Amino acid sequence: MKNVTKRIFAAVLTLTVVAACVVTTSPQATAKKRERSDITIGIDPGHQSRGNFGTEPMGPGSSVKKTKVAGGTHGTTSGVPEYKLTLAVGKYLKKELKARGYKVVMTRSRNDVDISNKERAEKLNKKCNIAIRLHADGAAPSAKGATALYPSLENPFLSRSVCKKSKKLSQVLLDSYCRGTSLKKRGLSARDDLTGTNWSKIPVTLIEMGFMTNESDDTYMAKAKNRKKMAKALADGIDAYYGFSK
Ligand SMILES: [Zn+2]
Repeated sequence: MKNVTKRIFAAVLTLTVVAACVVTTSPQATAKKRERSDITIGIDPGHQSRGNFGTEPMGPGSSVKKTKVAGGTHGTTSGVPEYKLTLAVGKYLKKELKARGYKVVMTRSRNDVDISNKERAEKLNKKCNIAIRLHADGAAPSAKGATALYPSLENPFLSRSVCKKSKKLSQVLLDSYCRGTSLKKRGLSARDDLTGTNWSKIPVTLIEMGFMTNESDDTYMAKAKNRKKMAKALADGIDAYYGFSK
């Protein structure tokens, strides 16, 4: 071939290769729909059989120190301690999420552990996409219903993006939880003083599942069939957060 012809041939060849590369790496060709199996859900069943009253910083760099793990409340009618309720619901939630295809990491699967709130957050930060903290409330006997606690947009420890996502997660989960159970929806509450939330680097919510000091909430949450319902409703909320239909 003459030099000019060679050059033209080489140019056409180059263009063809470039075009082929562009086609095969186009977003349409590579975008893969996110599946449940791509997502790891972190579950932290609040408390443990004995509180740890040592202290740790309330958030990264904070001079405020808080109790590592508080003792938690207990059912005034059922006598069930909060740490047993949170673990029971946490285990049902894990089972339900795995059946739907998610990966799951729990901060604890036994009651006789000693894991601080900071350590729980750090464990979930490592492997999870979101963190669900399970708790139950205690107050005057008339107080009842569920609340979701989220970090405010002014939270000094978390990025604004994590705070925004945490609020959305809290809202979607609480809506689903109250829809799927007969428990009253109290609403969302912004809290920037929670160690286990402030050390999180992933979207996080703390669900106060009901009041153990209220007779009807406590009686409801003590039953295995209702705990399964609570777990299913939370799993539905996680599906809704990620936009998965059943
Ligand atoms: Zn608690």
